[in-house]
Amino acid sequence: MGVASIGPLDYAEGWVRGAPNAPVREFPLRRPIEEALGAPVVLENDVNAAAWGEYLLARRRGPRSLVFVAVGTGIGAGVVVGGRILRGPRGLAGEAGHIVVDPWSGVRCGCGGLGHWEALASGSRLPQAAVRLASSWRGPETPASREASRGRLGYPELARALQGGDPFARHLLGWLARVHAAGLATLTAAYDPDVIVVGGGAALGVWEHLAEPLDRAYRELAPYGRAAPVKPATYGRLAGLYGALALALSAPETCG
Ligand SMILES: [Zn+2]
Repeated sequence: MGVASIGPLDYAEGWVRGAPNAPVREFPLRRPIEEALGAPVVLENDVNAAAWGEYLLARRRGPRSLVFVAVGTGIGAGVVVGGRILRGPRGLAGEAGHIVVDPWSGVRCGCGGLGHWEALASGSRLPQAAVRLASSWRGPETPASREASRGRLGYPELARALQGGDPFARHLLGWLARVHAAGLATLTAAYDPDVIVVGGGAALGVWEHLAEPLDRAYRELAPYGRAAPVKPATYGRLAGLYGALALALSAPETCG
C-alpha cells in the first residue's frame, strides 16, 4: 500500500514528525497501518507523492526535473530531480511554505519564522492578508474590500469576487501573484526545474485569474529572467493518490 501523508516525515521510522497546520507531533503511521493490513506500506509526504504523480505524467513529454507546488491550507512543494524525489536527510526538502518571501511584513508563520510564503498566502492565511490589504486600500469600498476587512475573504470568496470584476479583488490578486511569484523564483534558483506544476485546492480555485499575473510577476523575479513553464496540476486533488500508488508499485524490494 502507498500512503501519502502530511509531513515532514521520518522515513526510516515511518513517523509523522509534525506539521504546522495540524495537531500532529511524532505520530507513528507506517507500522500501525502495516499491522492492521498485514501488508507492507510505502510512506511518502503528500506533496512529494503528488509531485511524483505529476512527474510520471509529464515525463512522457520530456521533463527530467519538476517542482510541484501545492497551495492549500498550507503551502508545500515536492521536488523531482534526475528522476528521483528529493527528500533531504531530515525529510525537509521541499518544505517550500517556509521560504522567506517578505520578512518585512512582520507576519509570523505557524513554524515560528517570519514572512514565510505560507504565512502570507496559504488558504488558511489569505483572509488575514486581505485584512491588511483592505486597511491600506485607497480605492472606493467594494463588496470584496468589505468582506476582506471583516476577515472573510479567502480563496473561494476571492474567486467569486473576481468573476464579478471587483476592483479590490483584482488588487488582492495582484499582491497574491507577486507573493507566489517570489516563492516560484526562489524554487527556480534552488532547483532550476524543467517545469513547475501548481496544484492545491486554493490555487486551482483561482487559477483562471491567477495564471497570467503570476506568470508575469514570476518572469520579473526569476534568476537571469529564466523562468520555467508554469502549469496547473493535471491530476488535481488525485495527484497524491496516484503518486502514492505509483511509489508502492515501483518499490518491489519493499513490497515483496
Ligand atoms: Zn514557516
